[in-house]
Amino acid sequence: MDIIQVDDKQFSIYLKSPQIEAAVDNIAQQINVDLKGKNPLFLVVLNGAFIFASDLLKKITIPCEISFVKLSSYVGTKSTSIIRELIGLDEVVSGRTIVIVEDIIDTGLTMGATIDKMKKLEAKDVRIATLLFKPNAFQLNYKIDYIGINIPNDFIVGYGLDYNGYGRNYPEIYKILNNE
Ligand code: 5GP
Repeated sequence: MDIIQVDDKQFSIYLKSPQIEAAVDNIAQQINVDLKGKNPLFLVVLNGAFIFASDLLKKITIPCEISFVKLSSYVGTKSTSIIRELIGLDEVVSGRTIVIVEDIIDTGLTMGATIDKMKKLEAKDVRIATLLFKPNAFQLNYKIDYIGINIPNDFIVGYGLDYNGYGRNYPEIYKILNNE
């Protein structure tokens, strides 16, 4: 299936399973080496990261804990800035090595807000793992420790990523066609 319809838009195949698997493997191998003996807590940012996290964490061979968080966002009444709250975090973060697991980093603002939260909660070491990264859209300057694949600024769906709530279930990654 090289062209798919998701809601009112068409998408064409962009990253196939072998490429995705290789990227996930590579990240897992690095984490297994880097964080050995650190007892990391993986924080999976829902919804988009659920498939990536599932594949990645099956390849993590060191002792670790896994938790799932969600970011709620709303537009403040006095400004247009988006304020994000982290919900669902029950574990103690203070003094721990945290690996934030995201599907994609675009402008980097979402991840930036999550990193700030982890620092406020006094995490010892905050690492970032993202399957996809759009370097040309990135607006911040924090270090991204583990990047699967760099991609251009095209809108993509599949492998957990949605368009209007649809398309997360595709096992491969598709790029928007005729984005007007
Ligand atoms: P940010 O711009 O803050 O780095 O990314 C915010 C969020 O926008 C991501 O976590 C992801 O949910 C969404 N996003 C960014 N780029 C894409 C994309 O190409 N496709 C989809 N489906 N979501 C995206």
